[in-house]
Amino acid sequence: MAAEQSMPSIYQHLGMTRIIHGAGTTTRYGGSLMRPETIETMREASQMFVNIDDLNAAAGEAIANMLGAEAALVTAGAASGLVLQSAACLTGDDPGKIAKLPNAEGMRNEIVIQRAHRFPYDQTLCIPGAKLVEIGLGRRTEMTELKAAITDKTAAVFYLHSPFTSLPGLLTLPQMVEVAHAHDVPVIVDAASMLPPREHLFRHLKEGADIVNFSGGKGIRGPQSTGILAGRRDLIRAATLNASPNQAIGRPSKTSKEEIVGLVKALELFLAEDEEAEMNRYAEVCTHIVDAVRDMPGLRAVVEQDPVNRVIPHAVIYFESSWQGPSGNTVRDALAAGNPCIYVQQGTVQGGYFDEIAIDPINLQPGEEEIVATRLREELSR
Ligand SMILES: *Cc1c(COP(=O)(O)O)cnc(C)c1O
Repeated sequence: MAAEQSMPSIYQHLGMTRIIHGAGTTTRYGGSLMRPETIETMREASQMFVNIDDLNAAAGEAIANMLGAEAALVTAGAASGLVLQSAACLTGDDPGKIAKLPNAEGMRNEIVIQRAHRFPYDQTLCIPGAKLVEIGLGRRTEMTELKAAITDKTAAVFYLHSPFTSLPGLLTLPQMVEVAHAHDVPVIVDAASMLPPREHLFRHLKEGADIVNFSGGKGIRGPQSTGILAGRRDLIRAATLNASPNQAIGRPSKTSKEEIVGLVKALELFLAEDEEAEMNRYAEVCTHIVDAVRDMPGLRAVVEQDPVNRVIPHAVIYFESSWQGPSGNTVRDALAAGNPCIYVQQGTVQGGYFDEIAIDPINLQPGEEEIVATRLREELSR
């Protein structure tokens, strides 16, 4: 079987099962695949020593130029970027404070966050010793609540850019910038997984954010353990001082010379790609999958794309009340239990739980849409 023949020998040796990744850029299933030129750049860089401080500075400058930012830093992933953003706002460039973390007593150590922006990664903001100060309700925050929360203990105001954080009733990034900057407090943004569209690489800094955080191992297709911090020069310098190779709070998130250059190359390639052609390709892949199940009574299979929930086209299968077949959960489990194992998404992010099935095409390799379509129809027909 072709799936077995193309299995890399090290995975065979370790007894791994091939995954077809229709669930987005989920880290657990391998994130994304690097482009061949990125791998070649990393291989070349692995053959010679360079000074890592100098490489960080040069790579940071190259990335800052690409993003139109004052400065940038390659991190060990967006989770590491959250740690460094937070640390930078606590310590600035003060060596005494940097050495003292995670004891942040006596420093500005509070980070203000909207309750609706709480997310499973926000724990990492607290690693350097910061405390989160929550404002607002589950689906509403007022400007007055933000103003009241900012005190002389406030180190930063945090904004999460994700599909569920732009609901009406929540504070927008420009609104938070307006209030925070009036109090001389920096605004830090996590937009880790919001790429593509490429436009998001520039948007937050244009809207006034002081540092923005991206994952390098998701849409950019850089090395899995990389990310980008970009923004104000003094804060990027503070983040750098808290990061590896220094012996500081950020040292556990080490970046290698291979990863640093790999990300620079991956970002260049990402920015050079024709986004319209890319989106058309995704739409074609999704249409192929949707076409395979479109005629089944009780299903509504559609290609969906919108600016908030699904920024790239997805194949979505809704179960109508007349549906007689297996549940979405049953089908998802069966696809994941097969060989090759196929992972698909469940429901929309916004608006709560639905038993629908969604396929994100970003990680489907050429021809895999055929396997997904066949297996979907097979499992839906049981
Ligand atoms: C994926 C993600 C992260 C973590 O990114 P890594 O690069 O995997 O460390 C952080 N924040 C958000 C919103 C994410 O989606």
